[in-house]
Amino acid sequence: METDSRERTPVVDVRELHKTYPGAQPLHVLKGVSLRVEEGEMVALMGASGSGKSTLLNVLGILDTYDAGSYYLDGQLITRPGENEAAELRGHKIGFVFQSFNLISFKTALENVALPLYYQGVSTRKRMKLAEEYLDRVGLLPWRDHLPNEMSGGQKQRVSIARALITRPRLLLADEPTGALDSTTADDVMRLLREINEEDHMTELIVTHAKEVAELTDRIIHIKDGLITDEP
Ligand code: ADP
Ligand code: MG
Repeated sequence: METDSRERTPVVDVRELHKTYPGAQPLHVLKGVSLRVEEGEMVALMGASGSGKSTLLNVLGILDTYDAGSYYLDGQLITRPGENEAAELRGHKIGFVFQSFNLISFKTALENVALPLYYQGVSTRKRMKLAEEYLDRVGLLPWRDHLPNEMSGGQKQRVSIARALITRPRLLLADEPTGALDSTTADDVMRLLREINEEDHMTELIVTHAKEVAELTDRIIHIKDGLITDEP
């Protein structure tokens, strides 16, 4: 147990975050979101469709910028990074899992998992060795040479989880990771995410609209009309 009374740096520290999508009719989506996620926490983010869940996750994942407020990732203020800096931060700090898997269709399971390391300039030999380790971790080493369209939805999501983990991120973000899966498979994927949280002490923020999914996490955060609320 941690007995030190000093406060630890949260992995996610968001204060009064605002985001508006510009356009003929600008849409104010995040209206002062404040949120902290501590290291090793597994948190669910719930809210109605259109409430701003993906917008918030994209900001946290440095896939998009925000207009006002502050976002500290692992103690580092994320303001308006340029493309290269954003990619660099993302590559080292964030693992992202999408509802639609976002695997590259003409690459094998092993190649998909190894891909983030290619962008970091890791040698082929080392990439493939690590990709084997992570595919094994999600129980899919025997599927290493298969293409995504030869795999089930649950298997594809496992591959994408391995791909998200291979860079050893500080934060795993998942946007409705079970949204395209049947309930048994969804349960398997959630159990895998829980196992990774417990064994690797991985900090995870998981968007879902399924109560059964959210209840498998440590804590549920609700977002409503662009604000975090205590109640659903
Ligand atoms: P959720 O993931 O909770 O369903 P989103 O964050 O995707 O909600 O969307 C919140 C609101 O912002 C919705 O009204 C959506 O239509 C709008 N929106 C999302 N992305 C964009 C965008 N790139 N440009 C303009 N409006 C957007
Ligand atoms: Mg969404």
